[in-house]
Amino acid sequence: MDPKSYERYSRQILFGEIGEAGQQRLLESSAVLVGCGALGTALANLLVRAGVGKLRIVDRDFVEPSNLQRQTLFEESDAQQALPKAVAAERRLRAINSGVAVEGVVADVGPKNAEELLRGFPLILDGTDNFETRFLLNDVAVHLHVPWIYAAVVASYGVTMTVRPGETACLACALESPDLSGSSAESSGAPPAAGAAAEDTCDTVGVLGAAAGVIASIQAAEAIKLLIGKSELAGGRPVARLTSFDVWSGRFQSVRVARNPVCRACVRRDFTYLEGDSQPRLTMCGRDSVQIHERRRQLDLAALGRRIAPTVEEVRENGFLLRFRVPHYEMTVFADGRAIIKGTRDTSVARSLYARYIGA
Ligand SMILES: [Zn+2]
Repeated sequence: MDPKSYERYSRQILFGEIGEAGQQRLLESSAVLVGCGALGTALANLLVRAGVGKLRIVDRDFVEPSNLQRQTLFEESDAQQALPKAVAAERRLRAINSGVAVEGVVADVGPKNAEELLRGFPLILDGTDNFETRFLLNDVAVHLHVPWIYAAVVASYGVTMTVRPGETACLACALESPDLSGSSAESSGAPPAAGAAAEDTCDTVGVLGAAAGVIASIQAAEAIKLLIGKSELAGGRPVARLTSFDVWSGRFQSVRVARNPVCRACVRRDFTYLEGDSQPRLTMCGRDSVQIHERRRQLDLAALGRRIAPTVEEVRENGFLLRFRVPHYEMTVFADGRAIIKGTRDTSVARSLYARYIGA
């Protein structure tokens, strides 16, 4: 290793489990992160500083003022410019460590593009905020036989689990069984774990930056262990553990999750989410927004902005997205045709606004 790299990573090299050989492996490794919110920014920051060789970050959203409380890579100016999170994160991470190949991709990961976006990386990282996408990541990871690290955070607690397809339980083993059968809780008092996280969202019960920081840190350590080949348990077969931590109560729990012998995904290889017949064209996105997925068309945002300017208010366009207001609603349109309509939960209202301003 060259002296500058040795100096840069010296405190990590001094840690015996990593050492110079481990650091070298990390520098030659890569990972892909889906979702760049509270978990994703904290995780990307740790991994880029640690010297992962290449990191692709895929995110569909843009920075808003309400993100700044916990999404540690973003600044006020990013929110003012409504920059896509993937773009703002790439810019910041390159400034933090120019030796890492950081690639921000503005896209909504779905069944049609998931394999293309995730293929070629030895590790997939979950920074998403919904179970639809997590089960899709699980399907892709099992299908491609690539490890992935699930994580979720809401309010003051979060959960994480490392999945190694073919060796450990997968997310479907853990969460699709009705009663977590095959799992054995090691302490009394059920954690507010995955089940609760599936119902509550950051838009209804909030989220603490501290909770995201803890879970992202566990994810980062797991990622480094996997990338440098140090995740083997001494003498034992790897076992998935669903780890949860509540920063408010201080309660920590780690539950072994056994493989489900009839698991849909990792045993029967029935990749429901990847096959994606049920992928809705419209989804709820936060408490008061509807997202319209429309990947068939590429939009010229500048031209669209000029066309609608006479009939709408506060038109802003930054090369990545176009945002404008109409009475009661705010619409954000991306170059791939996707749109987020804020101010309604009614999908027919969203559809009609889309048709009126962007085209049927
Ligand atoms: Zn499974």
